[in-house]
Amino acid sequence: MDWKGQRESDNVDDARGRASSGGGGGIGGGAFSLLALVGRKFGIKGILGALVLGFALVKCGIVDLNTLLGGGSVGPGQQTQVSPEDEERFRFVKVVLGSTEDVWTKEFARIGRKYEQPGLQVYRGRTQTGCGTGSAEMGPFYCPADRKVYIDLSFYDELAQTFNSPGDFAQAYVIAHEVGHHVQKLVGTSDKVAAMQGRPDYNEYSVRLELQADFLAGVWANHSQQTLKLDRSDIEEAMRAANAIGDDAIQKKMQGRVVPHSFTHGTSEQRTRWFQKGLLSGKIEDGDTFSMPYKDL
Ligand SMILES: [Zn+2]
Repeated sequence: MDWKGQRESDNVDDARGRASSGGGGGIGGGAFSLLALVGRKFGIKGILGALVLGFALVKCGIVDLNTLLGGGSVGPGQQTQVSPEDEERFRFVKVVLGSTEDVWTKEFARIGRKYEQPGLQVYRGRTQTGCGTGSAEMGPFYCPADRKVYIDLSFYDELAQTFNSPGDFAQAYVIAHEVGHHVQKLVGTSDKVAAMQGRPDYNEYSVRLELQADFLAGVWANHSQQTLKLDRSDIEEAMRAANAIGDDAIQKKMQGRVVPHSFTHGTSEQRTRWFQKGLLSGKIEDGDTFSMPYKDL
């Protein structure tokens, strides 16, 4: 896979250095209300005096100007520096998202529709989303409410270490799967499935939805084969990732056994097979995971 130098998406939001509590401006606001209070008590001279004092404190390094102005939502204990590896991963995510934008814009045009691009947020630890609080333990996910993909980059370490899928393309596949959920949102499939929540067979519909997202990741791979110079080993890597993050593999890892009725993503074999189907076909309409009997999926 050769991704460097390819177009980077403009829809990626970098929240790695941002505090998850949604603070920001709190301290700055405090500084302003303090000034207002001084103004009420001591008039304009009081404000000037306070400003001079504030300036002196900043100048002497006693107070950090950034903190005073409220730009300091990242505290001193938090990491604001980004390692070169993380920066590289960040650019990688932007290129992969950009590639999904190109592919789906074309593919939607072919079926006479307009593709609306999703957002993607890269965060660290925890983040607020339109679907509640996102955390690193959840792995990458798509939130239909704000039409955004959320990725904590540490997931990629986990993918490499826990699931033995270290390569670039395995990471790209994960993004393409989440973008697949966005495609499902745009064509109305995910809303139909969401409306079935509470039904006893809901889990089956959820599996159908997940396998279709794998199919859609395969469609993306079909179209980006040339631009990203994908080769056989990349595809094998994606299959390994699909294999490694199937529900049966995850459950075996986590609990030491497989509990089929609680599957929500499909088995490793099913995920690999639907990804491969998408890869071979390259056409959105070939990914009907809803019509066939559940046992034949
Ligand atoms: Zn999914």
